[in-house]
Amino acid sequence: MQIDQLPALRDVITNHGLTAKKSLGQNFLLDLNLTSKIARLAGDLNGHDILEVGPGPGGLTRGLLASGARRVVVLEKDSRCIPALNEIAEAYPGQLEIFNADALGFDIRTNLTAPIRIVANLPYNVGTELLIRWLTPKEWPPFWSTLTLMFQKEVAERIIATPGSKAYGRLAILAQWKTNPTIVMELSPEAFNPPPKVHSAVVHFDALPKPRFPAPASLLSTTVAMAFNQRRKMLRSSLKSASPNIETVLRDAGLNPTARAEEISLEGFCSLARRLAEY
Ligand code: SAM
Repeated sequence: MQIDQLPALRDVITNHGLTAKKSLGQNFLLDLNLTSKIARLAGDLNGHDILEVGPGPGGLTRGLLASGARRVVVLEKDSRCIPALNEIAEAYPGQLEIFNADALGFDIRTNLTAPIRIVANLPYNVGTELLIRWLTPKEWPPFWSTLTLMFQKEVAERIIATPGSKAYGRLAILAQWKTNPTIVMELSPEAFNPPPKVHSAVVHFDALPKPRFPAPASLLSTTVAMAFNQRRKMLRSSLKSASPNIETVLRDAGLNPTARAEEISLEGFCSLARRLAEY
């Protein structure tokens, strides 16, 4: 399927000499059926500004524009991709804004108007860091209403993990406290060019109007980090430095001091952070 009158993505790559760079996590999606499907998984794009990080040759960008996005703002670090993206901008006048920029040093908010959805086939080397930033803004609800992001499957599984599983940890707590992450698509390596070594998955997050349980954000974050840094230890030992009365605090929070981090639910960690704030 050709979703617009632009050249096929393989030709775009050849015409602009876009040989993939490993250092930039470049694994491109060349099937416009697939990129349109990812764009649709983001929800209704009409009347929305979309932020896309790492558009590369623009396969997903074309999917987003063809699916009715009001405006798409793209951040691409690799200047070789900019001429290819300019061709897309010409086909969608006034709808595509291109920044040759590093997403880690870019102030997104000033360039987009609500409602905002973030959709990206993220570069694997910066994916988790960007996700954590988007999940931990100063204010909630955040500037975005949904995130639809491609990760390595192993990272996607850590995001949706539940207590008792090996994948359960800080990322699950952070994501599930304020959003409802779900894996909406799985992709094998052959879907990409060049194929990565691992499988991938798209995770969709809706921002909840408020956190699922009340808790002081910074205490929750440090407590969870401390508990999972020594995940095999009992909480009374891994959290010893959090309070001189840690056994009492844990009991007051309704938790067993001999339990381990991976047995504690999100609600349990929130209750613990509230208790620690009181002590
Ligand atoms: N979206 C394209 C697709 O689906 O075919 C490309 C995805 S590729 C996995 C990741 C893209 O992110 C590459 O184009 C790479 O150059 C870009 N990139 C890597 N690090 C970046 C950064 N810090 N800021 C912005 N773009 C970055």
